[in-house]
Amino acid sequence: MANQPMLKFTKVGRDMPTKRTADDRKTDFNEIYAEFAREKAAEQASRCSQCGVPYCQSHCPLHNNIPDWLRLTAEGRLQEAYEVSQATNTFPEICGRICPQDRLCEGNCVIEQSGHGTVTIGAVEKYITDTAWENGWVLPAKPAQERAESVGIIGAGPGGLAAADVLRRAGVQVTIYDRYDRAGGLLTYGIPGFKLEKDVVMRRNQQLEAGGVTFELNCDVDAAKFAEIRETHDAVIIATGVYKSRDLGLPEVAGFESVRALDFLTASNKLSFGEETAGYAEGTLNAAGKRVVVIGGGDTAMDCVRTAIRQGANSVKCLYRRDRANMPGSQREVQNAEEEGVVFEWLTAPKGFTSEGVMVQRMRLGLPDATGRQAPELIEGSDYVEPADLVIKALGFEPEALPQMWDQPELEVTRWGTIKAAFTTGETAMDGVYAVGDIVRGASLVVWAIRDGRDCAEAILDRFGAAHAIAAE
Ligand code: FAD
Ligand code: SF4
Ligand code: SF4
Repeated sequence: MANQPMLKFTKVGRDMPTKRTADDRKTDFNEIYAEFAREKAAEQASRCSQCGVPYCQSHCPLHNNIPDWLRLTAEGRLQEAYEVSQATNTFPEICGRICPQDRLCEGNCVIEQSGHGTVTIGAVEKYITDTAWENGWVLPAKPAQERAESVGIIGAGPGGLAAADVLRRAGVQVTIYDRYDRAGGLLTYGIPGFKLEKDVVMRRNQQLEAGGVTFELNCDVDAAKFAEIRETHDAVIIATGVYKSRDLGLPEVAGFESVRALDFLTASNKLSFGEETAGYAEGTLNAAGKRVVVIGGGDTAMDCVRTAIRQGANSVKCLYRRDRANMPGSQREVQNAEEEGVVFEWLTAPKGFTSEGVMVQRMRLGLPDATGRQAPELIEGSDYVEPADLVIKALGFEPEALPQMWDQPELEVTRWGTIKAAFTTGETAMDGVYAVGDIVRGASLVVWAIRDGRDCAEAILDRFGAAHAIAAE
């Protein structure tokens, strides 16, 4: 491949991989973007102006060396691009797919700020690593030397898996315990396939296993198991995420039940593995033929509305109490949802349920509150009933009360119930016990969980006096 000179942003426009049409993508749970062709990836990478102070990099939670792997991609040196990219990111192909790039790397790209359209960093990162998988460059851990120390990790989400990878490459013995039957955490059972296809996650799990990580699945860690894990291992990492769904606190009515977003999404993700849950079979977690109302404006709500469309709902509406500009979910996902036929009812909030559906009240935005956001206020007398056969509550998540669940009062938590852990090491108030990911940050992002997992693993390697051997073999 001919080398591409860089700084082509004035001549070459921003281009994303082809997006499938809404009519096509509504019929399945496959990802909605095609892969870049090799020439296209090189051309898009060559738009980068190779900034001396790359804001893209400083705004990536992993501080990925983005300018270098863009240059190598533009030059057709894909294996080297992959080596650079994986040196700081355990799962680059996953971040390339599901990071909210508009708020992180791409949102801070200087050529975007000069009006030329950001470099498509996420799509190139995905392309590099998918190519690496195709060519067999992604290799399991093969530590130069086995170590005697072992680490028990509770939770097989991205935080736990990233820590496991770093520890295992340094020769540490690693066991991951998870209550689910498959590893991956929310990558497997939360995030739908149209954002992240399941085989992308499963091949990572298989590779960790091939590198010597032991998985103890279907293992719901309770007080007795926690004590056993602590006794067995030299260090323990808590990576359990946040799973307590926030509720509306509104009484349910007879014959009409609202469901929790994660129950709905998990049932749908199970189907991707060919497994029908009871809730799906009975219809409580199945949107087919129904008028569906989703309550909430975050990314979980966006995943629910788009899942309902794919399950064949008759109509899908999303109620959110603020307006479009003030919603927490990604604007890219709102646009995707609208293209697929979702109707957004901005400035609306549920007041109660009737046998017909949801009692809705209209809102307006008032004065800014303590957080600086305009607070939604009720418009008196504006109530109406939104007819619905299935109501899905996507109102966010809170941590489970781990000190009580595990009978560990010395495990300190914040006033939000998240575990108190030292910044950059994950050390908790208990000696040898660390914590990473959502259980520390509250509901956050995959890329932050990866960052925490890697940092924590390095701190544990320091504790063991082990060299950091993060790079792939
Ligand atoms: P998790 O991924 O939650 O994994 C925790 C694991 O711990 C789970 O496997 C769980 O079974 C296990 N566990 C918990 N308690 C126990 C116990 N007692 N015993 C044994 N095992 C236990 N982030 C993005 O960056 N991009 C997105 O597009 C995105 N979309 C999302 C969509 C949805 C619907 C949701 C809910 C979240 C989304 N997120 C997204 C957020 C992201 O998934 C999380 O921030 C991330 O997965 C947190 O990783 P984690 O490792 O801390 O926890
Ligand atoms: Fe951007 Fe996420 Fe990749 Fe960092 S990990 S470069 S934020 S897509
Ligand atoms: Fe390239 Fe944009 Fe990063 Fe600058 S900010 S190095 S142009 S990707």
